[in-house]
Amino acid sequence: MQEIKWLIDASYFLAAVLFILGLKKMSSPVSARRGIVWAGMGMILATAVTFLTPGESTTFMPTGNIVLMVIAIALGGSIAWISGKRVAMTDMPQMVAIYNGMGGGAAAGIAAVEFARGHIHGTVLLTLAALGALIGSVSFSGSCVAFAKLQGIMNKAFRLPGQNIVNVVLALVTVGLGILIVQAGLSDKGPVPAFFLIGFFICALVLGVIVTLPIGGADMPVVISLFNAFTGLAVGFEGYVLKNPALIIAGIVVGAAGLLLTKLMARAMNRPITNILFQPISGEAQAGGAIEGTMKEVSALDAATMMHYASKVIIIPGYGMAVAGAQHKVWEMTEWLGNAGVDVRFAIHPVAGRMPGHMNVLLAEAGVPYEKIFDLEEINSDFSQADVALVIGANDVVNPVARTDKSSPIYGMPILNADYAANVIVVKRGQGAGYSGIENALFFKDNCRMLYGSAQKVVADVIQNLKTMG
Ligand code: NDP
Repeated sequence: MQEIKWLIDASYFLAAVLFILGLKKMSSPVSARRGIVWAGMGMILATAVTFLTPGESTTFMPTGNIVLMVIAIALGGSIAWISGKRVAMTDMPQMVAIYNGMGGGAAAGIAAVEFARGHIHGTVLLTLAALGALIGSVSFSGSCVAFAKLQGIMNKAFRLPGQNIVNVVLALVTVGLGILIVQAGLSDKGPVPAFFLIGFFICALVLGVIVTLPIGGADMPVVISLFNAFTGLAVGFEGYVLKNPALIIAGIVVGAAGLLLTKLMARAMNRPITNILFQPISGEAQAGGAIEGTMKEVSALDAATMMHYASKVIIIPGYGMAVAGAQHKVWEMTEWLGNAGVDVRFAIHPVAGRMPGHMNVLLAEAGVPYEKIFDLEEINSDFSQADVALVIGANDVVNPVARTDKSSPIYGMPILNADYAANVIVVKRGQGAGYSGIENALFFKDNCRMLYGSAQKVVADVIQNLKTMG
C-alpha cells in the first residue's frame, strides 16, 4: 500500500511538472504545439493515476464508480476530440468559453455531491468547498452565455433596469446562502439541507447569467478569460477539499494564467476589469459628432501599383483576415512584393482578432517568418516612414478616435498608428463598423482608400495584378 501511495504521489508530481513546463512552452509560437502535447500528457497521467486510487485519495469515488468514470471519459473525450478537429480558427473563442465553463461546472458539481453526502468537515474545508461551488457555478453559467453570444445564438447585449444593484443583491443572497451551508455543515446534524443547497446553486447560476448578459461583443474575450481564471480557482479549491494535488496544481496554474491574461487584455484595451463588467462598451455609445469626409474607393490594380512601387509596406491583419481564411494569400502577396524589393512587415495589435495571439497563429500557419511579425510597441513608430499601411480585415485596432476623441468608448485603447503612413489601404467587405460597433475615423481620412471585397478574393486580385508588373 505504501509503494502505491508513493507511486501515486510521484505521478501527481510529474503531472504537475508537465503542466507547468507545457504552459511555459506555450509562451512562444515556436514551442506552443509541444507545450500543448506536454500538458496533455500530464493530464492523461493525472487521470490514469486516479484509477489506481479508488476510494483512497478522494471521498467521492468509491471503487464501484469506475464504470461510470470510463463512460464519462469516453463520452467527454470523443466529443472533445471531434469538436477540436472540426472547430474553425475563428470559432475558437466560443470553444474555449464552453470548455472552460464545463470545468467550472464540474468543480461546482463535485462540491454539490460532497455537501449532499455530508462528506466535508471543518470550517476551512466547508468554506473552500462553498467558495469553489459559487465561483464554479458563476463561471459555468456565465461561460454558457458567452458561448451563446459569440456563436450568434443570443442577442449581443441585454441590460436589466438597475442592473448593477440587482447584481450586488443577488451576490449577497448567494454568499448568505453559502454561509448557511457552511454553518449547517459544522452543526453535525448530517448532510446540508437540500433547500439550502438548491437555493444556493440556483442563485449562483443566475448570477453568472445576469453578470454576463449586458457585456457586449468587444469585451467578451476578456470576460471569457476572467471566467477561465474563476474556473481555475474553483478547481483548485475543490482539489484542496478532495486532497487531490493534481487538481490543486492544475487549478492554480489555470487560475493564475487566466488572471494574467485577463489583465494583459484589459491593459491592451485600456479598460479596467470593473468597467468591462459594469460599464460595457456598446455601439450606441458612439463618440459625439459625425466624422467628416467620405470613404474613397480604390481598385485592386491601383492598390497593387501603390505597393509594388513602395519601399516600405506594413500589413495590419485583423479578424476579417481570419474569417476569410486569407492568411495564405496574404503571405503569397508578401512574397511577390518582397521579390519586387519592397520591405514588408506585419504589425500585430495585442487584441487583433478575437483572442490574444490569434493573428500570430494564423500568420505562422501560413509560413510567415517570425522576424517579419512585430508587436505594437516595436512597430508603431515605423508607420510615419511607411509608404503604405495595408489594413486587412482589421478595424477597431486602427481607429484613431482611440487617440483623439475623449468621448469615444474606446478612448485610451492603444492603437496601431496606420493613419501616420503616407497611404492607407483598407480591405473590408462594406462600410460596416468594427467589433465594438464604433465608426472608424481612419476610413474617412484623405490618405485612406477602401478596397472592398472579401479578403481572400481581394488579395488574390492584388496578386494577379502584381504578377503582371514583374
Ligand atoms: P474588428 O472586429 O474590429 O474588425 C474586423 C473587420 O473585418 C470588420 O470591420 C469587417 O468589416 C471586416 N471583415 C469581416 N469579414 C471580412 C472578410 N471576409 N473579408 C474582409 N474583411 C472582413 O477586428 P479587429 O481585429 O480590428 O479588432 C478586434 C476586436 O476584438 C476589437 O474590438 C478588440 O477590442 C476585440 N477584442 C479582442 C481581444 C483579443 O484578445 N483578440 C480581446 C478583447 C477584445 P466588413 O464587415 O465591412 O467586412
